[in-house]
Amino acid sequence: MNNPRPCILQIAIDTPLNAVFDYRWQCEDDQRPQIGQLALVSFARREVVGLIVGVSDETDVPVDKLKDALAVRSQLSPLSAKWLALAGFAADYYQRPLGEVALPGLPKNLRVLTTVALDRAIKKLAKLDLPHDPTPANMPVLNAQQQAAADAIGGAQGFKPSLLYGVTGSGKTEVYLQACAQVLAREPDGQILILVPEINLTPQLEGNIRARFPGVMLATLHSSLSEGERMLHWLAAHEGKARIVLGTRLAILSSLPHLKLIVIDEEHDPSYKQQEGLRYSARDLAVWRAWQLQIPIVLGSATPSLESWHHAQSGRYRLLPLRERAVRNAVLPTVKLIDMERDKPQDGLTSQLIAAIKQRMQRGEQSLLFLNRRGYAPVICCESCGWISECTRCTSFMVLHRPEHRLRCHHCSLEMRIPRHCPTCGNVDLQPLGRGTQRVEEGLQALFPEARVLRIDADSTRKKGSAQEAFDTVHRGEVDILIGTQMVAKGHDFKKLTLVGILNPDTALFSQDYRASERLFAQLMQVAGRAGRAGIPSEVLIQTRYPQHPLYGAVVHHDYDHFASALLEEREQAALPPYLFQALLRAEARELAMAIEFLNLAKDCVEHPGITINDPIPMTMTRVHNVDRAQLLVESSSRPALQAFLKEWMQALCEMKSRVKWSLEVDPLDI
Ligand code: ADP
Ligand code: ZN
Ligand code: ZN
Repeated sequence: MNNPRPCILQIAIDTPLNAVFDYRWQCEDDQRPQIGQLALVSFARREVVGLIVGVSDETDVPVDKLKDALAVRSQLSPLSAKWLALAGFAADYYQRPLGEVALPGLPKNLRVLTTVALDRAIKKLAKLDLPHDPTPANMPVLNAQQQAAADAIGGAQGFKPSLLYGVTGSGKTEVYLQACAQVLAREPDGQILILVPEINLTPQLEGNIRARFPGVMLATLHSSLSEGERMLHWLAAHEGKARIVLGTRLAILSSLPHLKLIVIDEEHDPSYKQQEGLRYSARDLAVWRAWQLQIPIVLGSATPSLESWHHAQSGRYRLLPLRERAVRNAVLPTVKLIDMERDKPQDGLTSQLIAAIKQRMQRGEQSLLFLNRRGYAPVICCESCGWISECTRCTSFMVLHRPEHRLRCHHCSLEMRIPRHCPTCGNVDLQPLGRGTQRVEEGLQALFPEARVLRIDADSTRKKGSAQEAFDTVHRGEVDILIGTQMVAKGHDFKKLTLVGILNPDTALFSQDYRASERLFAQLMQVAGRAGRAGIPSEVLIQTRYPQHPLYGAVVHHDYDHFASALLEEREQAALPPYLFQALLRAEARELAMAIEFLNLAKDCVEHPGITINDPIPMTMTRVHNVDRAQLLVESSSRPALQAFLKEWMQALCEMKSRVKWSLEVDPLDI
């Protein structure tokens, strides 16, 4: 009999310390743990689950300091070398320790101390009667452009990124589904990953996928699953049993041993970018993952991101256009601009928009009003002394939420009752200034007392499941007028909707953010695209003070191509992304001066030929929750040069051991 003999496990742990940690593990030679397995260890006086990234006989850790690993999760098959390489790439590219990338994406139940949840889940999965018939049901006949796109995607071999550029309602979903059918038929164990930007879009697509592939196991991965569900779905993907995985951005790091196709729906959507912690772009990681596995990937959008459009123009991505709406007789809506200087709005609505809504009511059709601002009014003020409801903790205002009788800061979530009188002069007549969705809802109810009005925004859908319920109500035709924020703008296929009113888009026209016009254009095209999808003639009315603005001209003509080309030209001339690569160092401190001082030190702490480091500046919203924030923008025309610099810089920054809290973001979207 062999005697157990210690080996050394190198373990990545979810901690900001950039290292892997060595632990001893006693076992017989033929039972050594494998790379990609999880192990339970004690770390910083806690017991945590880490990821084994190396197994060896040696360590530099002195014997008296070396700790034993507590357990190895041998029931779980190891995460593959390819998956580890993906996590490794993300860690490297976004300048974060491997453990912070690899571990948080795993289901919580895998990372707890006991294995009860895991053994639950494994048994449950084994017991599931797995369907294994990839035959699709009820395939509609595709039009020529759809067919060409589906064949190009489904028939592709090797790394082939495609940009499915299809106008709203052109039937992109159908193209994805038929491409999936081809891949499932061809690859006996093949898996497909489909990403959507928003959790609210999963039920619609989930329904489509289940109806189309009744004989295939589908797993969903998004943030509103219970831990038990998430564990089961993650495991189904990891064990290769789920053939299709549908999820939001976090699903990009799921373990898919037989991945053969990736679909990124609405690829332009900023929600693919994680805005805290590991600030990754799920879309960019998806393209890397497809390259790593040498498999096809399709990015779909009616308004592609300029990055992807640029790649399509340069031939790096194959452009697959769908120029027309798929449903017979459905055409793109007519877009008209309403000059608010001439047609002065009442309760936020111009007379032309009111008349158009009336008409829809008479015809039994639905209207959608889009206003990207929730709450009742963005601020309240005192007209006698000029007091306004500023947040005491942030550089922003307390938003009036009248139905809830509260003022709320949307940045630090400070809340208070609406003051009865002005805190400075005692005046009791405090006025709401400006208008949010709640106020428009109130106005609509007064104007159309007989109408069924429904508001959909983050406030009206706080309860779990309530968003889905609200969307279902719209689909069932039980709503006449829908008012909502960007939540209603994306992806939904509302059949009876024939009017879209856009209330206050002008503010974004003059933003300092160079991406603002790209975003506004995409948003307007998306929300306009909710109208007329079933073939009934439809209209989009945009209320603006700047009807001459070229951005609106492009929306009126549904002219993404020219608008995008013009923006790209501007970006090239101004040396901005995608012609330039950026990273952003952010610093937070009690006082702005401390944050700026840290950034100034950071600026000069390593040599940087070929890299431009700008001066530190306060962030636009400087103070959030009593913390002052500043930033330093780093730029280079060469991505490899920037990456090499960042690596060295990160090390130097860590060695500064500053007490200022800082973080680095690669490819920032908001600067
Ligand atoms: P997109 O995502 O491009 O905006 P959808 O995929 O939601 O568009 O499709 C819009 C509508 O067109 C849906 O109601 C869908 O069922 C329908 N549709 C798609 N393809 C076809 C087709 N080939 N024939 C008839 N209807 C289709
Ligand atoms: Zn006052
Ligand atoms: Zn605040």
